[in-house]
Amino acid sequence: MQRLNIQMVDLKGQYLKIKQEIDQAVLNVMESTAFIRGPQVSQFQQELEQYLDVKHVIPCANGTDALQIALMALGLKPGDEVITSDFTFAATVEVIGLLQLTPVLVDVDPNTFCMDVDKLKKAITPKTKAIVPVHLFGQCADMESILEIAKTHNLYVVEDNAQAIGASYTFSDGTTKKAGTMGDIGTTSFFPSKNLGCYGDGGALFTNNDELAAICNSIVNHGMGERYYYERLGVNSRLDTIQAAVLQVKLKYLDAYCEARGKAAAYYDQAFSAIDQIQTPYRDPKSTHVFHQYTLVGKGIDHFELQAFLKEKGIPCMIYYPVPLHTQEAYRTPQMKDEDFEVTNALCQSVFSLPMHTELTEEELKYITDTVKEFLNQ
Ligand SMILES: *Cc1c(COP(=O)(O)O)cnc(C)c1O
Repeated sequence: MQRLNIQMVDLKGQYLKIKQEIDQAVLNVMESTAFIRGPQVSQFQQELEQYLDVKHVIPCANGTDALQIALMALGLKPGDEVITSDFTFAATVEVIGLLQLTPVLVDVDPNTFCMDVDKLKKAITPKTKAIVPVHLFGQCADMESILEIAKTHNLYVVEDNAQAIGASYTFSDGTTKKAGTMGDIGTTSFFPSKNLGCYGDGGALFTNNDELAAICNSIVNHGMGERYYYERLGVNSRLDTIQAAVLQVKLKYLDAYCEARGKAAAYYDQAFSAIDQIQTPYRDPKSTHVFHQYTLVGKGIDHFELQAFLKEKGIPCMIYYPVPLHTQEAYRTPQMKDEDFEVTNALCQSVFSLPMHTELTEEELKYITDTVKEFLNQ
């Protein structure tokens, strides 16, 4: 058999399918030379507002900035506690620390890998000001419970939606909302490998609150209100016009991309359904899953051995995430006790993510699943 060229994320294959549209969109920006704040930025902003059914989208330079700007906009003071998940990408906790807020990490649910709401409740103190749930790997956290808890304790909710753009969540009363539009502010990243990725760095904030939108818009532009009058400390965080032009094209395909990922996930689910040594991704009936990652939990197997075996056979496999945040030199505090993070500790030693993107073929999926089964002697 000819060796397949399997990648974790196939940006090239995806580009080639829409090359003409993308090239034209980028060339238009070059011709106009409106590299900063060109019309494509506000067009994309409006198109994304429409897609998400949210009142305000504030584009910015990347997903980490978006999180930082969201927390700045809430006017939190040094020492205020912000609760987030122990099992996420480092950026989420990093920005809390950068603003001299106190990160409080909580363990995750063993099925969804998102914030465990019982542990969230226990983590709330009089100093708690905000909760940052992460919609990990493409599926929403338990937002119904989180919003209820936030309301009871008068806390802000900032959704880190870097991995679940396009997912939607249905509340028990039947209302459906897009991921990132349920809390006070939602943030996302357009990093190339994200589900809606540009060709460089990019990010955005979402909110339905006019006042918070105005503050975020000011913060991304050095805290400026009226031209050359600075109302607050801000940052310089812009989405490039070229990136906005790329995103305008790709937003049209986002639903199709989610569907393609879903199809690949369904193939994996089916192939692994009868295998006891691996736990396939749990599907929360309240949330759609847009499969930023297809992440399995191994039982009684060494995930690094599996990773090495797959590599040998030409299949990339990633461990997201290998080290719990509460153990990281940069973030740990004396309050974080290893025994409080049983689930994250176990996940970091057992999860593995298989190739997941919009261009996976059935031949590739068969080869990947057959090879995983070969490792498991199935
Ligand atoms: C990618 C990611 C970010 C950061 O996005 P950047 O655009 O790389 O800054 C933040 N949070 C989560 C959960 C992510 O996956």
